[in-house]
Amino acid sequence: MSEGKMRVAIIGAGPSGVDAALACRERGWEVDVYERAPRAAAAIRDWGHVRMFTPWEMNRSARMDEALAGAGVAIPDGGAPPTGAEFAAQLIDPLLDTPALDGAVHLGCEVLEIARAGLSKEQEIATDARAARHFRLILRQDGTERAAVADAVIDATGTEFAAGPLGDGGVAAPGERSLAARIRRRIPDLPAESESFAGRTTLVAGTGHSAQTAIAGLADVVAASPGTRVVWVSRSADPDWGSPVDDPLPDRAALAARAGEVASGAVGGIEFLGGLSVHGLALAGAGIDVQLDGTPGPRTVRVDEVVSLTGSRADASLYRQLQVHECYATGAPIKLSAQLLGDAAGDCLSQPEHGPELLRNPEPGFFIIGAKSYGRAPSYLMRTGFGQAEGVVALLARDLAAVGA
Ligand SMILES: Cc1cc2nc3c(=O)[nH]c(=O)nc-3n(C[C@H](O)[C@H](O)[C@H](O)COP(=O)(O)OP(=O)(O)OC[C@H]3O[C@@H](n4cnc5c(N)ncnc54)[C@H](O)[C@@H]3O)c2cc1C
Repeated sequence: MSEGKMRVAIIGAGPSGVDAALACRERGWEVDVYERAPRAAAAIRDWGHVRMFTPWEMNRSARMDEALAGAGVAIPDGGAPPTGAEFAAQLIDPLLDTPALDGAVHLGCEVLEIARAGLSKEQEIATDARAARHFRLILRQDGTERAAVADAVIDATGTEFAAGPLGDGGVAAPGERSLAARIRRRIPDLPAESESFAGRTTLVAGTGHSAQTAIAGLADVVAASPGTRVVWVSRSADPDWGSPVDDPLPDRAALAARAGEVASGAVGGIEFLGGLSVHGLALAGAGIDVQLDGTPGPRTVRVDEVVSLTGSRADASLYRQLQVHECYATGAPIKLSAQLLGDAAGDCLSQPEHGPELLRNPEPGFFIIGAKSYGRAPSYLMRTGFGQAEGVVALLARDLAAVGA
């Protein structure tokens, strides 16, 4: 393998995967980006109706700007932060059409598993002999499976939005599995979806920014449609709304302020129940009885709709056959995770730069970048992924040079 022939597989065409692909192409490497959805930035399109907190200039990398400018495409900038849909349509889609990424991205192509050719997980533990073997990726496209090879793999598959279960302790509550079809796990698109909630009772679980966004939208439905009720359940009696003092992101500050107001009872139809978790769900006629328990004692609420926004989860099954050392607390790669846990807890804007060495795994040539690299740590911003893409590709280049390729 020579540097010119280095072949990198990138899994996921979200912002970090796309940026990493541009970095590889800049070095003249072969790159294949596998994206399971029919369109890139699929995870972001899932909450496409929600406006981001970070402005355009924080949501693009210098490399993205160069690729767009080189293709004569306008660089999105200025004004309000984009919605998820605007981000995908104005930045990621045009990037895929630039010569810089020509032919690199395979849409509708899911990576099912990754292995090291000729070796199983327990063989050649982090040795040079292991590094000398290529990776095998099992792909599924249009219902057909095939294998592809790569010298290095970058896993940029992000986290599954709102995949966190509703039940106490982060496991599905009794009844949650059988009622899965009745549980909404996306941020409602309000006011577009108002009819589903107007005049009805909705349980919302979670207190992160997604739940806050849902509550802000539902507060407007409550105001517009008398008889609408919302029961807002939080494990914590006094949640952290995720906006520091003098928050430099005004939209985030406004959302957190609104959440605090609503939680303190400012909106008549919304009851905030702090210190309670979901212990069970059961059908009750056309409604659902939700059993809650916690510090204030048990209680059951009957609702028509359940909105679960209890956090996202990463899928580790992809690399089960590789030698990846995960953190037992966050599920993220251990070195970065240990660093993040050791950093003073802080806002995503005040995160220190973490060098790419922290993204190394025992598995040579395999890197997890982007939101997935932070596991359950909430402090990730997409600009972090741009720095990681740059650092990991530079590290791969250094490794190649070191083996005299
Ligand atoms: C409501 C909301 C608002 C947010 N607002 C902001 C904000 O204002 N600013 C900010 O910086 N961040 C924001 N974020 C976080 C932002 O979404 C992440 O920073 C960003 O999406 C992470 O990018 P990524 O490329 O790492 O992963 P993702 O965007 O999750 O992309 C992963 C891609 O991998 C694909 N994929 C997954 N599995 C496979 C597989 N097996 N094979 C092939 N492809 C696969 C997915 O389809 C997806 O396209 C927000 C998140 C949410 C939920």
